Amino acid sequence: MNLKDEELIQKSEEIGMNNMITVKDLEKNYQSKKAVDGINFVVNKGEILGLLGPNGAGKSTTINILATILSADHGEVTIMGHDLKKDAKLIKQGIGIVPQDLAIYEEISAEKNVRFFASLYKLKGHQLDNQVKEALELVGLYDRKDDKPKTFSGGMKRRLNIACAIAHQPQVIIMDEPTVGIDPQSRNHILESIKTLKSRGATVIYSTHYMEEVEAISDRIIIMNDGKIIAEGTKEELNQKVNDEITYYFSVNNLDELSEEQLNRISGVTKVKIYDNKVEITSDKSIDNLNEIIAVILGNGCKIENMSSEVASLETTFLELTGRSLRD
Ligand code: ADP
Repeated sequence: MNLKDEELIQKSEEIGMNNMITVKDLEKNYQSKKAVDGINFVVNKGEILGLLGPNGAGKSTTINILATILSADHGEVTIMGHDLKKDAKLIKQGIGIVPQDLAIYEEISAEKNVRFFASLYKLKGHQLDNQVKEALELVGLYDRKDDKPKTFSGGMKRRLNIACAIAHQPQVIIMDEPTVGIDPQSRNHILESIKTLKSRGATVIYSTHYMEEVEAISDRIIIMNDGKIIAEGTKEELNQKVNDEITYYFSVNNLDELSEEQLNRISGVTKVKIYDNKVEITSDKSIDNLNEIIAVILGNGCKIENMSSEVASLETTFLELTGRSLRD
């Protein structure tokens, strides 16, 4: 850990800070496009925060503002107690940025890559040697340290990208889609590395459009769409919110007499769709109305051929909230 980091931590401790990142009314526009449209959130010390959303949601723009790469049009950001507008230089010393695009040199060895980036933070001697080794071990590339990245798979290059960004042992790590387009083994490796960084005390914010990733490692999840935060909470809280609905799917013959209106009148029913020979009914899960639903269908001379049900998942709720799939 270098002097700057120690100063930053000391300052954080002095003001009793639990919020490592605070974002208030953040906005960024590109001509008439509101890429980030007035968002507010905090990231607590030692937390992994997953920023989830489809392409174009505003994740990268948000991440790049926090990473001091882009400037905001409006709003306030503090990182480790420092104002991003006033103290960007100081903040840069205490954070690790893992960009979406690879920032490594293909023609020099993996170790030399990490060494180069770590030395930008004024690490020297044994401390530099130790931290370079630790970073390569963390991402599982220590045994390939002498090889050039041009011989690596895409996943290995991404892992090296991470080692380069964290060898100076930053307190706050900002990652933009660190696992996009890589093999499952490298992806698991990266997710494990993020958990290890957290266990060593780092605070991590990272963006992704993979639901299962945030479910696997995030302490808290923010869902973004169209520049706005549309939901926020722990995995359990979000599941709680979404799992209060159930959808019944019926395949039915003789649908002529059945109307959506009749089904909509049943207590707990929130949505009805009748099309072809299908009936889709969404209902509050806590209300016991299945017998009544079936009675109304049968009472209209229909014959039920098949039935299934599905409790809403985070993915389906996302679709409901935004009208878009995460993988559009
Ligand atoms: P995400 O990371 O969630 O895919 P982005 O932050 O990259 O989303 O983009 C948010 C919106 O801002 C998108 O509509 C995108 O087209 C637009 N945008 C991003 N960067 C630029 C830019 N440099 N110029 C114009 N529009 C941009």
